[in-house]
Amino acid sequence: MIADVYFAGLDSGRSHSPLRQITRLLNKCHVDRLYHKDEFVAVKIHMGEYGNTAFIRPVYLRPILEALRKIECKPYLTDTNTLYTGMRWNSVDHLHCAALNGFNYAGLQVPVIIADGLRGENTVEVPVEGELVQRAKLAADIIHADALLVVSHFKGHNLTGFGGTLKNLAMGCASRAGKLDMHSVLRPQVDQQLCTACHRCAKSCQADAIVFQPKAEITEACVGCARCIGACPEDAIDSDWGQSSANVQKKIVEYAKAVVTSFNRLGIYINILTAMSPDCDCYGGNDAPVTQDIGFLASTDPVALDKASHDLVLSACGGKDPFKRRYPHLDSSITFAHAAKIGLGSGSYRLHEVRG
Ligand code: SF4
Ligand code: SF4
Repeated sequence: MIADVYFAGLDSGRSHSPLRQITRLLNKCHVDRLYHKDEFVAVKIHMGEYGNTAFIRPVYLRPILEALRKIECKPYLTDTNTLYTGMRWNSVDHLHCAALNGFNYAGLQVPVIIADGLRGENTVEVPVEGELVQRAKLAADIIHADALLVVSHFKGHNLTGFGGTLKNLAMGCASRAGKLDMHSVLRPQVDQQLCTACHRCAKSCQADAIVFQPKAEITEACVGCARCIGACPEDAIDSDWGQSSANVQKKIVEYAKAVVTSFNRLGIYINILTAMSPDCDCYGGNDAPVTQDIGFLASTDPVALDKASHDLVLSACGGKDPFKRRYPHLDSSITFAHAAKIGLGSGSYRLHEVRG
């Protein structure tokens, strides 16, 4: 099946507001037919770690929330706590970080709910017939909503090559137990010959999973976040990327399917292709974008949406994949192939450009 993906570029001239372009995309996706009066609508976003500046601009959410309020449903912004410590590992600090990053009631007139509870324990299990996942552990206050609308920042990712809607659906809607389930295959190892016991990896590890005896060793407390790999100046830490990234990508796709099927209805997915940093917005900083700002895409098919977004980034980079340049050991095509295989969505799409 060929899916419809709608695209609004940022090159329409100064008389056209990007916010109106987002409204047009919502109308193309029939927002007024997919969401209904009095429904709780979980608007899933990633509010960015404090210090990062690449995450989506809160103002982009205004036309989305206005469209939902016009239908008289009850939208709320939502995200889940992280596996590692930082400013988003529990709901109290997470809400503080969200407010500092501009996601707050004062600015957007909408409540913010951290969907997996105070310490990430608010889980519901959803069955899914996957190759690797049979029961997905998801954040209850997303799954208990009546409907879902997902807004994702498209960018690079050090575990999967890129991050967009599929990752926001899967990792972003999972409780801590679900995140651990997806990351668990990624525990790296230290080459004892190369390690100089400099302790830099331990400083980067927010799970306290690195011990020294006397060289570094990674313990069972590891949550598979891969941060220590980049921190090591000796390249002494590595993972079996061929196997582990493939498994993570497949698990992400299967978790995404669990989320989508638990709503049993179509939802709208939006990708924002601005400030596309090579890394996830979970870091407390961000590198320069891999290419210029491109615009916004929307679809009711999350797979086609990510594929179209990825293709537009490649096209903007002259056909050369900027994420592959950054992470040559990762093959993100596994995500699309597995998503099509398990029927999460379509790898084929028709791109409709929406101009103001
Ligand atoms: S991958 Fe590295 S940084 Fe992350 S939890 Fe494991 S040991 Fe710590
Ligand atoms: S950063 Fe690398 S060299 Fe330093 S202690 Fe960790 S593994 Fe060893």
